[in-house]
Amino acid sequence: MSAGELNTVFQGLGTTVFTVMSGLAVEHEAINLGQGFPDTDGPEEIRAEAARRVVEGPNQYPPMQGVPELRQAVADHDRRFYGLEYDWQSEVVVTSGATEALADCLMALLNPGDEAILIEPFYDCYLPIIEQTGAKVRVISLAPPDWSFTRQDLEAVFSDKTKLIVLNTPMNPAGKIFTRDELALIAEFLERHDAYAVCDEVYEHLTFDGLKHLPLANLPGMRERCLRIGSAGKTFSLTGWKVGYISGPASLMAVIAKAHQFITFTTVPALQYAVALGLNQSDDYYQGLANELERKRDHLRSTLEGIGLPVLPCDGTYFLTADIAKFGFNGSDYDFCKHITANAKVAAVPMSVFYHPETNDAPNSLIRFCFCKKDEVMTEAADRLERFFAKG
Ligand code: PMP
Ligand code: GLN
Repeated sequence: MSAGELNTVFQGLGTTVFTVMSGLAVEHEAINLGQGFPDTDGPEEIRAEAARRVVEGPNQYPPMQGVPELRQAVADHDRRFYGLEYDWQSEVVVTSGATEALADCLMALLNPGDEAILIEPFYDCYLPIIEQTGAKVRVISLAPPDWSFTRQDLEAVFSDKTKLIVLNTPMNPAGKIFTRDELALIAEFLERHDAYAVCDEVYEHLTFDGLKHLPLANLPGMRERCLRIGSAGKTFSLTGWKVGYISGPASLMAVIAKAHQFITFTTVPALQYAVALGLNQSDDYYQGLANELERKRDHLRSTLEGIGLPVLPCDGTYFLTADIAKFGFNGSDYDFCKHITANAKVAAVPMSVFYHPETNDAPNSLIRFCFCKKDEVMTEAADRLERFFAKG
């Protein structure tokens, strides 16, 4: 059988940058500030609940849309944090991670010939999933340091074929939280073109400096057009669990549930019960998580600035971006990340991989560091970077 017979989207793809850089980090015994995952597991109470449920059951197929306890907890969470009202029975679906949630939403909404808008830099899984549906991707390209856009930028990509926009806020890799004004502009275009928004809000609770996440669904008229995606991986520092959730209007959720039923059908029941317990944690838990990450961001920022690397603003997420232009490195940002992984023994991720392959002016001197690691690990990473860059 020749490779030509395989799927045209997937056979052409490389391995994700996260997998590549994590592999290199292991190979070179580097501290892995590339792939975004914490090195401490989330609350013991939540993990203990998962363990108890595995032992005591139930361990058979749970309800297709998710166990009632978790769907209720998601609806309660959305009301508590954003004042958004969703009916837990018809407007919430539990998925195996936000990645599956994204696939469910995009497959349920898109037809061949539709257009889907991505805001670049964008998280890696959006593009292949959209391409697999046969829809065409239109790109709004944002530039540092404020990663903002204008009315003209939206006019250039919205058309009568626009079916949806994917909006990731707080945004990976840029660390940006979209402002109310920016959201209002997007809302205006969604109304005008009768389009939807797939809102990737996995970093909703990882926000800093007193800034709060604002879902697009909160803007007037937007609840009916938005699908809100969350992830227990980020909210409870349990990225390996792959438990996600979608909230949205019943008319859309009914079709999204059809996609979900043939992609994974269900998600591990024990983890669902444990995440339900998690979502009901007190405000102290949520604030504590954000405060802790803010402190880690500040630590990494002072390290990078200390070695002369300018950093971009970071309002949320796990990620801080540094500008390496002044080193005049002879190679791409990807080469630079491989270079410091092998030689400084600290891994990072290049910004250019978050751009569409056809974008000509993707940045080549920005690299993303992940800061959700133990203090001693961040201190060791700081020492290694300081030693390496002091050598010139
Ligand atoms: N969206 C973004 C922006 C992410 O950074 C991630 C991180 N993994 C995901 C979606 C996927 O989340 P999950 O691990 O729950 O599938
Ligand atoms: N979201 C994580 C990141 O941006 C990676 C998740 C993954 O490896 N799929 O680093």
